[in-house]
Amino acid sequence: MKLQDKVAIVTGAGSGIGRAIATLFCAEGAKVLLVDLRNENIEALAGEIREAEGTALCYPADISRSDEVENLVSFTLEQFGRVDILVNNAGIMDDFTPAGDTSNELWDRLIAVNLTGTFLMTRTALGFFTAQRSGVIVNVASIGGLFGGRAGAAYTASKHGVIGLTKSVGYQYAGQNIRCNAIAPGGVATSILTDAHPHPFGFERMSAGVTNAPGTGDPEDIAGIALFLASHESRFVNGSVITADAGWTAY
Ligand code: NAD
Repeated sequence: MKLQDKVAIVTGAGSGIGRAIATLFCAEGAKVLLVDLRNENIEALAGEIREAEGTALCYPADISRSDEVENLVSFTLEQFGRVDILVNNAGIMDDFTPAGDTSNELWDRLIAVNLTGTFLMTRTALGFFTAQRSGVIVNVASIGGLFGGRAGAAYTASKHGVIGLTKSVGYQYAGQNIRCNAIAPGGVATSILTDAHPHPFGFERMSAGVTNAPGTGDPEDIAGIALFLASHESRFVNGSVITADAGWTAY
């Protein structure tokens, strides 16, 4: 049990990678607060976790709204008595639109969820982590946060921002026993790609890089890395990004 008696908050826990992370953390002994926009999905997962004799509670919230995020960590403390781990996983994809065609609405939505949401959750957690002088943050970024050809401009910028925030937090709080790392997944089989009509030019540019991709991962492939980064085994890893793409970007 790598997370025995630890308490974790996992955002975007209702689907895909977040669901796999929450499930694995509970199996490893953690108590988990499941956060998602879609309450029915986290309720269903909480039921599965309890059937497996794990401990999970639901907290439906939009992480891009500061009023909804504000009380989330104190709620976790009230319910579980402590908070040790924050996994900032909730995120949305764009439709591969290049910068020249990106609308204000598309830009604002992607930045609000992927970057501002990660920031709001991080700031709230840091208030508690600095007081207790311990805490671990795991951000689910993307290889779109390291390279320019994996998504549209808004997603790419938002995930580069997440990686910048990861390094800043990792560095600034290193002396307070707080670590912050990111995972940069390649293609993972989830329901994130919902747009049936991607931007034709942006999609064509992105597709040029996809031909070298060795394959698609499963959410569990990313959950194992999140477990490593959340556990004591990674105590010397801070401000880092672990790429998980089967070697796609090593090409
Ligand atoms: P997914 O769509 O299966 O799951 C994302 C979850 O986040 C959903 O349950 C959704 O309801 C929730 N969510 C979205 N906006 C939210 C908000 N404002 N507040 C609270 N919850 C919200 O997608 P996924 O592929 O599991 O994505 C998880 C993370 O992994 C994202 O940050 C994504 O950018 C990243 N990622 C995914 C891939 C991939 O290929 N699937 C690759 C690289 C990075």
